[in-house]
Amino acid sequence: MTKPNKLYLYFRSAGYTILVIGLLCLMVTSLLFHSISPQLWGLSGIALVTLGSLMVIVPDRLQQHVAHQNNELWQNNATSRGTWAWLLGVVLTGFYVLLYWFPETLQGLILAVEPLSQLLRNKPSDQWFLYGLFYTLAVIIMGVYALLKYRNSRYHLIRTASVIFFQLGFAFILPGLLLAFNQREYYFSYFWPLKYDYLFPGTVSYLVDNGAALGVFMVFWGAVFSFLATPVLTYFYGKRWYCSWVCGCGGLAETAGDPYRHLSDKSKKAWQWEVAIIYPVLGFIIITTGLLWLNSYMGGSLLGRFSSGFSRSYGFFIGSLFSGVVGVGFYPLMGNRVWCRYGCPMAAYLGLLQKHLSRFRITTNGGQCISCGNCSTYCEMGIDVRWYAQQGEPIIRASCVGCGICAHVCPRGVLKLENGPTEGRYQGTTLIQRDDLKILN
Ligand code: SF4
Ligand code: SF4
Repeated sequence: MTKPNKLYLYFRSAGYTILVIGLLCLMVTSLLFHSISPQLWGLSGIALVTLGSLMVIVPDRLQQHVAHQNNELWQNNATSRGTWAWLLGVVLTGFYVLLYWFPETLQGLILAVEPLSQLLRNKPSDQWFLYGLFYTLAVIIMGVYALLKYRNSRYHLIRTASVIFFQLGFAFILPGLLLAFNQREYYFSYFWPLKYDYLFPGTVSYLVDNGAALGVFMVFWGAVFSFLATPVLTYFYGKRWYCSWVCGCGGLAETAGDPYRHLSDKSKKAWQWEVAIIYPVLGFIIITTGLLWLNSYMGGSLLGRFSSGFSRSYGFFIGSLFSGVVGVGFYPLMGNRVWCRYGCPMAAYLGLLQKHLSRFRITTNGGQCISCGNCSTYCEMGIDVRWYAQQGEPIIRASCVGCGICAHVCPRGVLKLENGPTEGRYQGTTLIQRDDLKILN
């Protein structure tokens, strides 16, 4: 690593100082909002945290050579399950617990972002606006980190820009504007089965009855993307079009979660858990949706008062507990794709399509592999990429989100993400044998 110059060190220290002052402002806002101006303190805190983070991230990444992308991740306490990682895990899980079950404790911060909520949504702020704002800021700030870290790769620059764009535009600004125009809040970048209730009869009838032409369009958009666009796009590009380019959960994982990608469990046991959990979650959504439609067709006589119980129990166990508390809270301990790997029904659906009905594969030029293991280490989905590379076998796994980091970190150019024809998709490359090298004979 090049020796950091003095100016950089001053800049970084100033960045850390501003970051800490910003965090203190946010703490004061949370605890003392009755006796101070929450807007002044809270918005200053958010601005200082943003500025301080960028002052640390930008020079830090720029003064590192592009080849030094993952240096010292395993030595750094914060990225190798050390004390700082545990502390961050506790803070993140604690935040999600407060957000879902004790939102009144966030009142100071909610009041702080009131002007922004009024400006965007023309509505009072609530805990979900606060969460959306923090989430989007995390994707943008750490998106800058990812853009600089992978600045030598066009694929990663475009992919990162794409997730920032979809989070900011489709998952934050657009739903806010809909509310400002007295329309239903709708996320055009989330589809059934991930947004499971978008195709529940209650939502569909509400949108069609109350949303006029826009409501009908929302139902049309959701149904077309779930049942037509998703299979077609996955056929051509694999699940990466969604998991690594569009989805907000993937967006956070690829930006804020990037420093933790090496922590994903690569064991066979983890793979078995993955299959044992994710497909039943998808099955649960399919059955729930089917039952609710049948119930609606039968005028409510099938499920009676239990009809809302299905979606509420899913919302609690999977939507809140799994996707938020565990899925993001455990980034520093279990890697950045816990939710995508073990719990997301959309990932399960896309994965089945990718495995059985897609042109996507990662081809491996096995003869070149030196078994360094970089690819497996940095695969966020816990795939033992090296095993496939050593055999010269293509990687066709339901869980692969096509992030492309395995190919990026491979020092030998063994791996290539391809959307080739389906014929010969499973065919491996011929390994170079010793006899093939007798070139002087
Ligand atoms: S196999 Fe490669 S492209 Fe697929 S998830 Fe793992 S690192 Fe990403
Ligand atoms: S990173 Fe490349 S060379 Fe290293 S084990 Fe993986 S495929 Fe082989």
